[in-house]
Amino acid sequence: MRPLRHDRFIKEFEHDTYKTKGKLSEPTVCRECSAVFHKGRWQWLARPAGADETLCPACHRIHDKYPGGYLTLRGPFQKEHRDEVINLVHHIEEREKAGHPLRRIMSVDQQGDNILITTTAMEMAREIGDAVHHAYKGELCYQYTDEANILRVEWKR
Ligand SMILES: [Zn+2]
Repeated sequence: MRPLRHDRFIKEFEHDTYKTKGKLSEPTVCRECSAVFHKGRWQWLARPAGADETLCPACHRIHDKYPGGYLTLRGPFQKEHRDEVINLVHHIEEREKAGHPLRRIMSVDQQGDNILITTTAMEMAREIGDAVHHAYKGELCYQYTDEANILRVEWKR
């Protein structure tokens, strides 16, 4: 585990292997989720006429089952307040996804007493971890893997 600086975080994300590469023609629509690539970024827009089709980076990750972020919730608190905690997780998902089409939850799984959440973007794991930490205190830590460009977040209370 090592602390993660914000500027480093942003810089690393620029090298994301699932980042939209090169120049997509505009408009381009994701054939899975219908997000639209417009003005250099993916947005939720009405489908434009004559758009090209591709897979957006989030759907690409879902298709490959290759998360960009992992968030593990540990400790007795989340076990005793499971519904409340999961509701918060989905609330943050809705909020983030509304403004950032590439930020999605891929899965929410119970693993023993813990909850493991996988996400399409490391920012999503970070945002949910921060929200859980803000709401319920406890301990939060980040682990960034350079080689794989994956962020693992752990929260415990
Ligand atoms: Zn998509």
